[in-house]
Amino acid sequence: MPILVGISGCLLGERVRYDGDHKRSRYCTDELSRYVQYIKICPEVAAGMSVPRPTIRLERHANEIRAVIPTTGADVTAALTHVADRQYHQLGQLSGYVLCTKSPSCGIENVKLFNPTTGEFQRVAQGLFARRLQELFPALPITEDVHLEQVSLRENFILRLYVYAVWQQLRLSLNHSQLALFHESVRGLLTLQQPAYQRLTNMLAADTDEFEELGHAYSVGLMQALAKPSLVKHSRTALLPLQTYIEQQLPHSTVALLTQLALAFLPEA
Ligand code: SF4
Repeated sequence: MPILVGISGCLLGERVRYDGDHKRSRYCTDELSRYVQYIKICPEVAAGMSVPRPTIRLERHANEIRAVIPTTGADVTAALTHVADRQYHQLGQLSGYVLCTKSPSCGIENVKLFNPTTGEFQRVAQGLFARRLQELFPALPITEDVHLEQVSLRENFILRLYVYAVWQQLRLSLNHSQLALFHESVRGLLTLQQPAYQRLTNMLAADTDEFEELGHAYSVGLMQALAKPSLVKHSRTALLPLQTYIEQQLPHSTVALLTQLALAFLPEA
């Protein structure tokens, strides 16, 4: 089973941007593509918009953020938000997602937000597709193309991609004792986050029959802890216990793919 990664279509060189252009990311097309299989989506095109098209901007209205086409006044908030809901099943297969920075649809952070009362912009918003993606899949590792150009952020994404890909392969077959072993195998990644590690340990110790819910809560807690680049060990050495664990649990071909990913992008120690 390949490692599936969602990606903003324009980052792969697809001419889907509002101006008919693309925003190709060499790192995505030339490097990461050798180790993962992309599922590309342009949320604006998937919402029925044409190429080229008028620009969209995010606007603050009372407690709501809306996506509006300034030239026509059309409100495209629902259309953009529902793209992720419509593709829920396919998105649920992904082990990671690379989004295009600053876009009112795809940006994770620092997207321009227009205040119609003051006429001012602030870089404080999230793109609507990105926001809905995070709401639906809070454990999914997400990054932006610009983050992949910074070593520590790139390593952090690759590490989360590795761990989440493992989790997705294992989760349906896990029982309480296997989950405890999995948890022990990621301990070395969280040595700088003892409170987070202890919280997850306590979560697993709770007496519950709702194993599916426990697994979901655990995966969200773990992936959120791993999303703190300065507090996570990004080395192949730190991944060794997990690597040893999956060698006993997953098919050889899957382990080989994950090992290649780690060898290509993570330092040894
Ligand atoms: S940033 Fe997102 S919505 Fe904009 S062109 Fe790229 S994929 Fe499409």
